[in-house]
Amino acid sequence: MLLEQILAANVKFCAQYIPQQLSPNPRRRLAVLTCMDCRLSGILEAAMGLDTGDAIFLKNAGNRVLNNEDVVRSLAAAVYELGVDEIIVVGHTKCGMKNIEGTAILQQMVKRGVVTGLKPAEIEEWLGKIQDEETNIKEAVQQLQSSKWLPKDLSIHGLLLDISTFRLKKVVSGY
Ligand SMILES: [Zn+2]
Repeated sequence: MLLEQILAANVKFCAQYIPQQLSPNPRRRLAVLTCMDCRLSGILEAAMGLDTGDAIFLKNAGNRVLNNEDVVRSLAAAVYELGVDEIIVVGHTKCGMKNIEGTAILQQMVKRGVVTGLKPAEIEEWLGKIQDEETNIKEAVQQLQSSKWLPKDLSIHGLLLDISTFRLKKVVSGY
């Protein structure tokens, strides 16, 4: 079972783990909002030149802000409690959230006993379907800039990661 494999891997890991004295306050005073895509796991930090303890990473489906209070709540904690003063929204090409198809999702839900009463277009909206990755990044940056919970003195940027080459492209500079 997967859980047992993970626990076994953890025993091996801990045998050679050297405890680090890190502050919960990110050294680079940075928070990154990115996509939950598994292809970014364990590599995006390196692609951005960031080490453990440098930055806070928030992830969700499609690096969206929407009316997602939880993104803003976490960023508020990062800013007011952990000293963050820059935020980067990192989107990526070939995001799975572009392919969301409301009818298929609803079929899956019904098949598995979940009844929402929503129409396909509504379920796409609820899941946060992305039309265009670059536009989505600009929108997220704009939503954070205009959030009533966050101060106006933050630098909020947007980057687009090419999932094939891991090259980052500047979409929005908050300076
Ligand atoms: Zn994605």
